[in-house]
Amino acid sequence: MTASDSALGALWRRAWTAARWGTHCGRCGCPLDAGAAVWLDPIRLDGRLVACAPICATCAQPMGRYDLRRWPSPLPCEGCGRPVHYGGGRRYRVRCSTRCAWTVANRRRSQAAAAAAAARRTACTVCGTVFEPSRADRCYCSPACKQRAYRQRHGLVTDP
Ligand SMILES: [Zn+2]
Ligand SMILES: [Zn+2]
Ligand SMILES: [Zn+2]
Repeated sequence: MTASDSALGALWRRAWTAARWGTHCGRCGCPLDAGAAVWLDPIRLDGRLVACAPICATCAQPMGRYDLRRWPSPLPCEGCGRPVHYGGGRRYRVRCSTRCAWTVANRRRSQAAAAAAAARRTACTVCGTVFEPSRADRCYCSPACKQRAYRQRHGLVTDP
């Protein structure tokens, strides 16, 4: 080991935080702009894998940036949309960082919640307004429509 423990610790933190937040290069630490292309690289220190972190173009270049077997054409990150080159074989889920993985998971969750809410929506049997019932057995959009239905049932109103 050539680097001192504290220097190694700093490199370790740099790679680890890069993998988590995607805001800087996991090797040189330079800031990565939001839309800038990144190269995902498994960073090893002292023989141990730290993280698969995004690295900048400058750091990727000497490692064969233009070798398409190592760095196939980029795919957009599912979280932030930046182009991501990934050299570790075929990757189905492209996320530049852990933060983007969270973004994708949150988006999926809210989409599922919205779909569930849409599935619960029903039309008011009196006025036809589509609404989301608070209980499964509710079929009127408002107390006014409920009352109106009651009055219609009992012949208290004659208008349509
Ligand atoms: Zn770099
Ligand atoms: Zn991303
Ligand atoms: Zn109604």
